Amino acid sequence: MTDTHTHLYLPEFDADREDVILRAIEAGIDKMVMPNVDIETAELLQAIRHDYPEHIFTAWGLHPTSVDYSWRENTTRLLQHLDEPGCVAVGEVGIDLYWDTTYRDQQMECLAMQLSEASTRRLPAIIHCRNGLDETLDVISQLHKPLPKMVFHSFTGSEEDAARILSAVPEVFFGINGVVTFKNARDLHAAIPTIGIDRIVLETDSPYLAPVPHRGKRNESAYITNVCSKVSELLGITTEETERMTDLNARKLFLL
Ligand SMILES: [Zn+2]
Repeated sequence: MTDTHTHLYLPEFDADREDVILRAIEAGIDKMVMPNVDIETAELLQAIRHDYPEHIFTAWGLHPTSVDYSWRENTTRLLQHLDEPGCVAVGEVGIDLYWDTTYRDQQMECLAMQLSEASTRRLPAIIHCRNGLDETLDVISQLHKPLPKMVFHSFTGSEEDAARILSAVPEVFFGINGVVTFKNARDLHAAIPTIGIDRIVLETDSPYLAPVPHRGKRNESAYITNVCSKVSELLGITTEETERMTDLNARKLFLL
């Protein structure tokens, strides 16, 4: 299986990072994609990739919540990593207006620049979109280049949101994580069957968003099996089929 979104380089894993990676591999999660989020964590991300070249893949880009007055310079620096071995995507990039709307316009400009780079390099883009679907789709519709493949990571939206994304991006996948196991995620539960297994990839977004029964604790890649079970239940298919199909989708998306 593939965990298409995890942040193993964050301090939450400093004490037992190796154990976490080995537990994931033991549980059958043999591939993990780690998007960068800022300049500070770049070096550790590279080091982990270096230690597990068969299992760990990277993505580089400036996260929307890291966009500030120096976004242009920081984005240019991070995009230089796209040439490194093991890099499979531009990400994570997008719009996040949940905490702060100060840099809305800069977030949009930064997303446009990074999608353009993804298009030029024929790399997929990992999209982080929180309270910013209108802005994200605006930027996408104004990209005057062939659209890169995309994954809307941590998708928790409704049927309507999914339909808007599907009509805007021809080659799109939806990253489903622990939120799908939460009882109150009714909109997402309704959206999953309309998205269908052909468009779903699984992720943990660890250390965040641990699935039930680990909710509230630190998340890790091995817990992706709980996400897989819930998605299977919603689609009325076996966990083996969900595993097989989502893994195939992840390979298609990231060319793993
Ligand atoms: Zn993330």
